[in-house]
Amino acid sequence: MGRDAAMDGREQARGQVRAPALTHRPVPLAIVGGGAAGLFAASVAASRGLGCLVLERKARIGSKVLMTANGRCNFTKDISAERMLADIGEPVASFAARALRECPPSMVAAGFKARGLKIKRMADGRLFPASGKAADVVHVFGDQLRDSSVPLLVNCPVTGIQPMKSGFIVATRSFTIWARNVLVATGGASFPKTGSVGDGQEFARRLGLKVEPLRAGLVGCETDDAAVRSMAGARFEHGASAALLVGGREAFRAEGEVEVEPWGLSGAAIYNCTRHAARHGIAAFDIAISTPEGAWTVRRPRMRPLKEAIVTMGGVALDEIDPETMESRKVPGLYFAGEVMDVDGPTGGYNLTLAFATANLAVRSIAASAVER
Ligand SMILES: Cc1cc2nc3c(=O)[nH]c(=O)nc-3n(C[C@H](O)[C@H](O)[C@H](O)COP(=O)(O)OP(=O)(O)OC[C@H]3O[C@@H](n4cnc5c(N)ncnc54)[C@H](O)[C@@H]3O)c2cc1C
Repeated sequence: MGRDAAMDGREQARGQVRAPALTHRPVPLAIVGGGAAGLFAASVAASRGLGCLVLERKARIGSKVLMTANGRCNFTKDISAERMLADIGEPVASFAARALRECPPSMVAAGFKARGLKIKRMADGRLFPASGKAADVVHVFGDQLRDSSVPLLVNCPVTGIQPMKSGFIVATRSFTIWARNVLVATGGASFPKTGSVGDGQEFARRLGLKVEPLRAGLVGCETDDAAVRSMAGARFEHGASAALLVGGREAFRAEGEVEVEPWGLSGAAIYNCTRHAARHGIAAFDIAISTPEGAWTVRRPRMRPLKEAIVTMGGVALDEIDPETMESRKVPGLYFAGEVMDVDGPTGGYNLTLAFATANLAVRSIAASAVER
């Protein structure tokens, strides 16, 4: 018997167990951001047995998810992936096609249902938690991560991502983590109090990736039109539509809610018009409103600022990322998911679905490359 084996025998006899040898190993996946995309990514990683941890800037996870649809969370829409892609339009549709086909709305809904979420379907197919509480969606993630022992570091803003010979160093204010792969899921730059302040876009820029200018996507628009302002408080839920007029011609039309605010117009139909204008670089437009109670045209409204937008347009340029894997083309092992990229969709559950589907594809790709290695 060798000396070590004899020692083991004596320790075991005394009821002592030797600690395993300490080795310095990278975490297979560090997820930066505990919002919609980051939480979905962690849940996919946990179900595939891929070791990961989540670093979240704020004191709690899912702050923006909690405010979606006025706290009710329209988390997806009961339509096919193909229909969703058609509604999203180019250039995002081509980029997100693989992600959405692999994780269509039916799979998103089935995943939440399997984890105990009761779901309410609206006549137009939008899906919400039956409780009417976005917190239930966040709890699904929180419960799964707890049950799978996925480490969640809150109050933990990541300050830098440094590629190394092997993996990455992910830096926070007080420590660093060695990660084999990094998923940047830091969101857009609207409603910054939710924690999405544009950090991921800045990390990408520092790593030499092109970032498209950040601007408001789905947002209300302001007008000085006294007739509109005099209707402040009016809300047209059914039978309303808005048309984007460019040079007097209809460039885009959206059915849906129209609300008159003290400063101008909001509601789904207006948001979808401003998204179209932002995506196509249309700065000067009119909006023609049609409601069961009348029709009117608002001349040259101004889009409200990015900080109030439901979605951020711009972000990491789509041609920097492989749409088959969500991996950076320039920095192997660096992945992106959600609004940090230049992806956006209309209102109606499209943006959360895009965050979930891109996160799913990124993690599946990472898990597959871990097996290959
Ligand atoms: C008012 C409002 C209503 C909406 N309603 C809907 C809706 O009903 N349906 C729908 O589909 N979409 C809706 N959206 C859009 C949807 O919420 C977003 O598209 C989605 O949350 C994007 O997911 P994400 O993970 O990319 O970003 P986020 O959910 O914003 O998550 C990003 C996370 O990263 C964290 N983070 C940022 N920087 C760092 C850092 N340096 N280190 C660590 N963590 C960091 C942030 O704190 C945040 O928690 C709504 C948005 C708003 C603002």
